Amino acid sequence: MAASLPVLGFREWAVRGDGALSGVRGEPWTGTIMEARCSEGHPAPDPGCACGVYAIDGWPGLGDHRLYEQATLPLRFIAQALLSATVLGGLALLLAMDWPLLHRGSWLPALVIALAMCLGLSGVVAADLAVGRSPYLLGAVVLSGRIVRHGNGVLRAERARIACLVRPPGVGRKPAGRVASRLGVPLFHWYQRRRALAYLSEHGDLWPRAAARARGGP
Ligand SMILES: [Zn+2]
Repeated sequence: MAASLPVLGFREWAVRGDGALSGVRGEPWTGTIMEARCSEGHPAPDPGCACGVYAIDGWPGLGDHRLYEQATLPLRFIAQALLSATVLGGLALLLAMDWPLLHRGSWLPALVIALAMCLGLSGVVAADLAVGRSPYLLGAVVLSGRIVRHGNGVLRAERARIACLVRPPGVGRKPAGRVASRLGVPLFHWYQRRRALAYLSEHGDLWPRAAARARGGP
């Protein structure tokens, strides 16, 4: 199905430095506007091709499988919780083993155990930090020109302009703020859904309303 009125779409970007990249293709968004181009040479998006600027037609939920980073978020939280619990458990075990040794004055065995335990735990801490580093941002785009909508709510558009960015849970305020100020767009936090949607309603319509208007409805 195609529509020609501005439509709101939601998507994610990977963050590199202070810049935003397309999450899948790694294409940098140097400004707020992206125009679709297809290597096949036809106007993008084409219904029979994979070209176009991608977005989904509603606010992405936690673990939304249509967005790469967002899809892995619940698993990342579980992995972080398990790794943090392992570190705390390891430290408690170290204390339990070393305390009696230190009490008896056996410094060398206590030191060997402490070094071995710290070596192991440092690997777990490194894994914890790596899992927790999820430099991506969500956001809304105003789509215009040709728009192709797939049955699962994925949209492919000819043109997209970033209307706002949204900081997902687990991503720092500072890096998110730097990307938003570099692009000159407002930044909302993941818990400000209603506020963001109220702001976005001035910039475009969600798909059902936009499609109805394209058909000549209210
Ligand atoms: Zn194409």
